[in-house]
Amino acid sequence: NKFSVKGEFLDYYSKKQFPLCMRHIHQIFRSTHHMKHGCRLQYGLFLKGLGLTLEECLKVWRDEFTKLVDDNTFEKKYSYIVRHQHGKVGGMIQYKPYNCMKIITSNVGSGEHHGCPFKHFDATQLRQKLLEYGLSGTGIEEIMNLVKDTHYQIACTKYFELVHHKPSKSVINHPNQYFDESNEILN
Ligand code: SF4
Repeated sequence: NKFSVKGEFLDYYSKKQFPLCMRHIHQIFRSTHHMKHGCRLQYGLFLKGLGLTLEECLKVWRDEFTKLVDDNTFEKKYSYIVRHQHGKVGGMIQYKPYNCMKIITSNVGSGEHHGCPFKHFDATQLRQKLLEYGLSGTGIEEIMNLVKDTHYQIACTKYFELVHHKPSKSVINHPNQYFDESNEILN
């Protein structure tokens, strides 16, 4: 697997090819070594959608979580949900990664980092994030105008265009579609 299932490799891909929602969660995960429940669901399934196997996903989670907790605690508290997402425990269902509509309409409480930044961040926070990720002032304004009119997925599509210097083939409606379209341009 080209991701080599290490945080550092995901760092690389998250900067170049992840949509804003997943890049943000990945960044928080790597800096705090923790993910709250909403992020575990959204990001865990996204990683699965990238083609990471159960073992690879477990390694990504374990490497990061065990910077704060021991292996035993990780196994007891955090590994179940990964196995669950891969249909190995519980209802044994092969869960699908969330699409944009599901993410945009999810509830995000304060201190939580899942959801869609175009929808759930306030204007100041979104501007800051886009600036931090290297977008120009004009690009940021274009995105902010779309967000003001609640065109969150169009804003994401514009973000794609600005970071790739090329438009996506269609409007972004799924984080894994974002990654696939990026892959076509960059690889
Ligand atoms: Fe993620 Fe979709 Fe929002 Fe883009 S529009 S940031 S892919 S949820």
